[in-house]
Order: sequence, then structure tokens, then C-alpha cells
Amino acid sequence: MKGFIDCHCHISATDFDNDLNAALPLIEKYKDRLLAIGEVGLDFTPRFVSSDAGKDEQRTVLIKQAEIAKRLDLPLNVHSRSAGRPTIHLLKEQGVEKALLHAFDGKPSVAMEGVKAGYFFSIPPSIVRSEQKQKLVKQLPLENMCLETDSPALGPEKQVRNEPRNITVCAEFISKVKGIPLERVMEVTTQNALRLFPKLQACFRL
Ligand SMILES: [Zn+2]
Repeated sequence: MKGFIDCHCHISATDFDNDLNAALPLIEKYKDRLLAIGEVGLDFTPRFVSSDAGKDEQRTVLIKQAEIAKRLDLPLNVHSRSAGRPTIHLLKEQGVEKALLHAFDGKPSVAMEGVKAGYFFSIPPSIVRSEQKQKLVKQLPLENMCLETDSPALGPEKQVRNEPRNITVCAEFISKVKGIPLERVMEVTTQNALRLFPKLQACFRL
């Protein structure tokens, strides 16, 4: 269920509690039809958070979201910006086993801690212009990668509206960076997505 709690809203922990209490009965009622809890996460970009208290508030919210995901046995779709290390560490501390780190902007060494925990990382088309993403893809095993567009943001060209069809850009670039045939990148990343979001199988059958 994309957009259950959108971290981009940067709501306060109090607002979050109110929202959650109102939404929880619906989430429980439809839990069998939910694919994931997300997008959730930590965003420590200075324009969003300037104090340790603000960061702690985000952590508190994420812990509550992780608890719901664990209780309902759903994967978490996780945003992290300028907060790669704290995000991975929090997820591990909370015992989260199923997570997709989207558009991860942290160091490859930190991402590899997530790989050890069994997490997946989705790569957006902005990889063509991001040295950080290219370094990340070099290190990450294909078995832990998914593809994403994050459209309308994170396109191959800066300031140009991203489109879902650009998912092919990610696959082609990963194939080039890792020296793996394009077909294999497409096959493995699809299987990874199905492993992480098993209910997608049923969607395809419809
Ligand atoms: Zn995000």
C-alpha cells in the first residue's frame, strides 16, 4: 500500500499518532490485501530537520511503523536521505527482516550492512548522473537489487520530469556497470521484487 505514511510529509510524531490511530482499523481490516507499509523512513536533510530532537522524533515514528509492518508480516518500503547509516541501523535494531531501501544515498559500505540483513535496494534512473549510485551498484549483489523510477523525480536528466518507462534506463545502466547481460538484470530484479512483495504474483495473475 504505497503512501500509507508518506515520509515526505514530515509530519510531527503527535500528528502521526493521530493519523495512525485513525488509519489502524482500516489497515487491520485490509491487511491481507496490502503489499507493503511505505513509504516510511528518515530524512535528515538540514532543511527538514535541524535538531537532534527532530531526528529523534523521526526515529520514534519509524519505530512505530516498523512495529506495524512486523506485526502484519509486511515488508517496509524505506526512504532515507542524508540518513543512510541511522536508517539501516534502526531497521536492524528493530529486527526488521523485509525492507526495500529506495534511492539509497548512503555509502556502499553501509548498504552492505543492509545486504547482510537481507534488505533490498532499488535503483532509480538518476544512476546515469550519480557517481554515488554507480559506486553503490558496483558493490551491491544483483540478488539484492530492484529497479524503481521514483517518477516524477530522480530521472536520467536533472530538472526533467521522470517517467515510469525510464525503468529500462536503470536496467541498462546496471547491466553496463556490472558487466551482466541486460536480460539477466531484468530477470533477477523481477524475481527479487516478487520475493520481497510476494502478493505481486496475484496482481500479475489478474
Ligand atoms: Zn523517498
